[in-house]
Amino acid sequence: MNYAIPPSPQAAVPIAGSTDDFPVRRIYCVGRNYAAHAREMGSDPDREPPFFFCKPADAVVPVAPGDTVDIAYPPQTANYHHEVELVVAIGKGGRDIAIDAATDHVWGYAAGFDMTRRDLQFALRDKGRPWELGKAFDQSAPITPIVPASRCGHPTAGRVWLTVNGNLKQEGNLADLIWSVPETIAHLSKYFELRPGDLIFTGTPEGVGPVVKGDLVTGGVAGVGELSIRIG
Ligand code: MN
Repeated sequence: MNYAIPPSPQAAVPIAGSTDDFPVRRIYCVGRNYAAHAREMGSDPDREPPFFFCKPADAVVPVAPGDTVDIAYPPQTANYHHEVELVVAIGKGGRDIAIDAATDHVWGYAAGFDMTRRDLQFALRDKGRPWELGKAFDQSAPITPIVPASRCGHPTAGRVWLTVNGNLKQEGNLADLIWSVPETIAHLSKYFELRPGDLIFTGTPEGVGPVVKGDLVTGGVAGVGELSIRIG
């Protein structure tokens, strides 16, 4: 194949305990998947069907264990927010995946930050416009290495937490997801054919808030991993 311009490199995330990388195809994100976060966003936390938005694959910023990666404060926002989330890595594709078969499609798990330009997201939301400017920007998906499910199992409970400069800001538990990982996969696969390499950010617990230049943001998911970024 000859390309008219050089093709962009394949977006990828390291695999924990391996020299291999996990190639990223698409990034799906679940909105409002913890009741207390739905309330803080001004929504009814009743169990409405999950909804989804996407980020581009090359929004991932891999963060190695023990490292702190500098992330530039993004343009066109004055309210840049952290959201810590469990991330699911799909290893086997499919459509209309049954809830009780969903974990067969999961290759592994990571912890990630769904970084958000909250002012833009809310302005777009209030006008009924797409969320891309608020959610799908460059470097908006810092992420730990992916842990194979063969090592970490399929977590259904565990602390999800985030600190800013050492102060606890977000704390929740995977057991409190409104839509579990299998339910999320089942629902998403009704609308998209999932493919190997897809990532799903499963939603954030309450306590989201702004970060500013110089902040050290650390967060993680128990049994999966933790990551640190410095806002520059
Ligand atoms: Mn999120």
